[in-house]
Amino acid sequence: MKLIRLIYASAARTEMSYAELTNILRTAEAHNGQQGITGILCYGGGMFLQALEGERAVVNALYNRIIADPRHEQCEILRYGRIATRRYDQWKMKFVGIDDPATAHRRDLVLRHSGTSNFTPLQMTGGQASALLYDLSHEFRIAA
Ligand code: FAD
Repeated sequence: MKLIRLIYASAARTEMSYAELTNILRTAEAHNGQQGITGILCYGGGMFLQALEGERAVVNALYNRIIADPRHEQCEILRYGRIATRRYDQWKMKFVGIDDPATAHRRDLVLRHSGTSNFTPLQMTGGQASALLYDLSHEFRIAA
């Protein structure tokens, strides 16, 4: 099986409400579970950053579906490549919000990885985006 990880960034067409984000998450969890997709989806300030992991053809098909979604635009692939193991295998799709004031430490991670505390994933390199998502996921990891 050719396992790959795809990381992309995009801009929401309109600021997303909690209900709208929950709706995306429900759909993602339902479909991703059936298709062996794992990943993490980050949202803040009207921007998305998402990592999708799984079998190459399945991830490609999902990405094509996602970029056609009218809820966002300016989708840009930041990193795409073969992986030996999954990083986000604990989640069909883990959601991490950046805007919540109770989670200021997430802004610190954004600052550390991008040089600005504004969450602007479309300006990030693939390496920065990959490292940020990985560090953000640590808060939620369950030790094996
Ligand atoms: P409908 O258009 O109502 O479904 C049409 C048919 O296609 C149904 O039979 C349905 O079961 C089937 N179908 C739909 N989606 C899939 C799928 N992914 N695989 C196989 N069959 C499918 N969606 C995800 O599935 N996973 C994600 O990780 C994900 N991340 C997203 C991130 C962002 C930022 C955004 C904006 C959207 C994301 N979505 C994701 C939603 C995605 O763009 C589509 O809206 C969603 O896949 C459509 O699901 P639906 O059942 O409402 O589709």
